[in-house]
Amino acid sequence: MNEETMRKVARFINETEHELRTVFDRIEEIEYVNQERVLNAFCSEKVSARHFAQTAGYGYDDIGRDTLDRVFAKSLFCEDALVRPTFASGTHAIFTALAGLLESGDVMLAVSGRPYDTLETAIGLDDNPQPNSLIRNGVIYEQVDLNQDGSFDLNGIETALNRLENVKVVYVQRSRGYAWREAIAPESMKPVFDAVKRIKNDAIIVVDNCYGEFTLETEPSSFGADIIIGSLIKNPGGGIAPTGGYIAGRGDLIERIAARLTVPGTGREIGSYAAGYTQFYQGLFLAPHVTAQALKTAVLFARVFERLKLTTMPASNSVRSDIVQALRFNTAQDLVEFCRAIQAASPVDGYVVPEPWDMPGYNDQVIMAAGTFIQGASIELSADGPIREPYTAYIQGGLTYSHGKIAVSRVIHSMIRNGSIRI
Ligand SMILES: *Cc1c(COP(=O)(O)O)cnc(C)c1O
Repeated sequence: MNEETMRKVARFINETEHELRTVFDRIEEIEYVNQERVLNAFCSEKVSARHFAQTAGYGYDDIGRDTLDRVFAKSLFCEDALVRPTFASGTHAIFTALAGLLESGDVMLAVSGRPYDTLETAIGLDDNPQPNSLIRNGVIYEQVDLNQDGSFDLNGIETALNRLENVKVVYVQRSRGYAWREAIAPESMKPVFDAVKRIKNDAIIVVDNCYGEFTLETEPSSFGADIIIGSLIKNPGGGIAPTGGYIAGRGDLIERIAARLTVPGTGREIGSYAAGYTQFYQGLFLAPHVTAQALKTAVLFARVFERLKLTTMPASNSVRSDIVQALRFNTAQDLVEFCRAIQAASPVDGYVVPEPWDMPGYNDQVIMAAGTFIQGASIELSADGPIREPYTAYIQGGLTYSHGKIAVSRVIHSMIRNGSIRI
């Protein structure tokens, strides 16, 4: 690429960045509010170095573990929480919560359409539900789709609540997952939560909060969600937590889920961690800032692609309730080249060329760019997309905004080189 083009790209990105000043200001205000709440949680729980210590064996009286639970709970507007490195993924945490709450004959009512791909086998939505899946264990699954515009079908939800007898769990997914819709802001969940409390007061509201934490000043628990769940290799781990997940919410429900997490009768009394808890505390402390960096990166991608007349979701000036940015390409090849450019701009495995593959738990081939320090950590800059029409890449993360900006530039260079765009 000649120097003239390089200069043009740099000017184009800088201009775009200047247009985003007010959007960035809003993100920084949200960061400030969240940072203060997290700080207050640390102070009020009197966090100190003894909480970082490694523990072994049963983990009785593991104050690092128990204090981390409370700091997380307060940071997320919840009464209680289970924060565990032993959750192998977000899906594992979500499944643990659902399996802990639902018994044979109970209805799980999903009100934001079909849940995230990896939950299909966990719930048992495939043709042959596997042993231990919710459906195989007698849970009845019902679903109300979102409206075309991504809003809740409040009438449909009310009808379902009135029609179904044993609704035990009402399930909401905040983030878009691999769906072409905007993430749902916690505030927008309130009418649904109010309807649940009105029609089925004893139903438990469970929210898959993955990707949503700290993107706004509130969480679903601020508006009546009983349980929220997320992954520590996304927002609330701050890019530092090496693995794990959290389940937060109402105290009695957390106790009940703890019995499923370990053993009925023993629950949260046990569970040690020989590597110590420093990274979970530090990660949570950094989470509001890192989430803001990821949001700014997403906004820059959105605005650059808008200026290139490509289709994006959400728009650069939308209020965001997750860190995911969807970008639509004209061909499968453009999608693949995009992911390759992101990979090439990664600090780890930057020399690797990603290929589409059959990822377990997903129905289509998926291409992923993930040059991350922590395997699969999508709070680090990463992109992925199922190879199916319309060719959509989902980009998320970015530990620093500067890295995000560099990656945007590299993507533009790649698109110019491939002849997909001119600027
Ligand atoms: C990431 C994510 C999950 C959990 O995925 P894991 O890969 O199992 O951590 C669940 N739901 C949504 C919406 C997600 O984005």
